[in-house]
Amino acid sequence: MERLRDCVGREKPLREVSQTIQFDTRSLGPAVTGAVQVTCADETERECVEAFQQGFVTYALPSLKSARKAPFRMANIGARYEWGGVHIAAEHFASAPPPDGAMLLVVKINGHVGCEEVPPGTPDSFGGFDDMRPLRLGSRSRYGTEAPACGALGALLAGKGGPFATDLGDAFRSEGVDRVALLNDPARVAPAVRALYAAIVSARLQARSAVLDLQDRALPRPTFSLVLPCVTLNREGSDTEILCGIYTVDGRGPVRNVEYYGLGDDPAAYEITARNRRLVVSDDQVGTQRRGRNHRALIEEQWRKHVTQHGPLELKDERMDRLRADVARNQHRNHHHARRLLRAALPILAEVAPVPAAILMFADGAVGIHHAHRIHRLAREMEGTAEARRILAEMHDRIDQLDPERAEALIEMLMREYRP
Ligand SMILES: [Zn+2]
Repeated sequence: MERLRDCVGREKPLREVSQTIQFDTRSLGPAVTGAVQVTCADETERECVEAFQQGFVTYALPSLKSARKAPFRMANIGARYEWGGVHIAAEHFASAPPPDGAMLLVVKINGHVGCEEVPPGTPDSFGGFDDMRPLRLGSRSRYGTEAPACGALGALLAGKGGPFATDLGDAFRSEGVDRVALLNDPARVAPAVRALYAAIVSARLQARSAVLDLQDRALPRPTFSLVLPCVTLNREGSDTEILCGIYTVDGRGPVRNVEYYGLGDDPAAYEITARNRRLVVSDDQVGTQRRGRNHRALIEEQWRKHVTQHGPLELKDERMDRLRADVARNQHRNHHHARRLLRAALPILAEVAPVPAAILMFADGAVGIHHAHRIHRLAREMEGTAEARRILAEMHDRIDQLDPERAEALIEMLMREYRP
């Protein structure tokens, strides 16, 4: 991945990045290669889609039908990763011949930003580095009119927008850091670069979601996954892009190892310069390789700390006492009975102590990884009853899909944690 690493933080032509992905991954010698591409639905992103097709897809992917190769694509407002996407895509590509040997899965996620050269002194422009003309970021002339790009990220920063902004906002506020506020604070982020930094942060956070998804569940075939957050610069001439970082998820062995190399997700830490009339973004994280974290284990750890500080959970409730008696008599080991007990326990816990229940169920792997941001918030604040109830209700609806052994383990865990 040496050549790919050299691209991190540097503005490059679109084709060059896709070709570098192709060259650098060839040495991995995968039996089969799959790809997922996530872009904004904005028509300006067509160029980015085509460059990935021509620079990577046509060389690396199996044929879908005669003379047709295609990545699994998500194009939506704001380039949001959709939970579960990597698993559906992996099912598809893993079925391509040959049946044996490892798969390579490339997941490329592009945020985007309009970028226009402007005369010196133009308001809200920046640059004028060496021989580079000043740039205005965040809007583009479109059909003869100035329009925001990315409009979705612009709406998020302005506190507007529909469901897409809620989704983007969840990611931007993950792990207790309000990155929208950081980006909007002129003392932390210069307004002239705000739109670019927002796109970097967004691609970075959406890539993290894809990584959580890959980390959480095995793919149908031993797979080495490469998740690449990028930002397209929609320019007057050919578009360019900045590769923001490289996540690798190595699932070729029994454990899935996650590593990251690249820009962090703190927009206030980014620095921008130019070299050879191209932008270069860096921060103090670039250049160091970091191990990916296991979010379920992190939540478990946080819960243990809470118990050490505040003591174990106590729950005095007659209905729970009856369930506890059943478990004590090993009733939950009878056919299907564990699921029945779980079905009875969840509404009680949702009523009297939903937050710890949602946290415990997530740490145990019973609540979907797509709730990671929400659970982090619940575990940090130890409040958010309505949200915890929604998560438990979703869990309740899926009890029938649990293996009986899994249901047994879960009900035992709940009885251990909630003391009479
Ligand atoms: Zn957009």
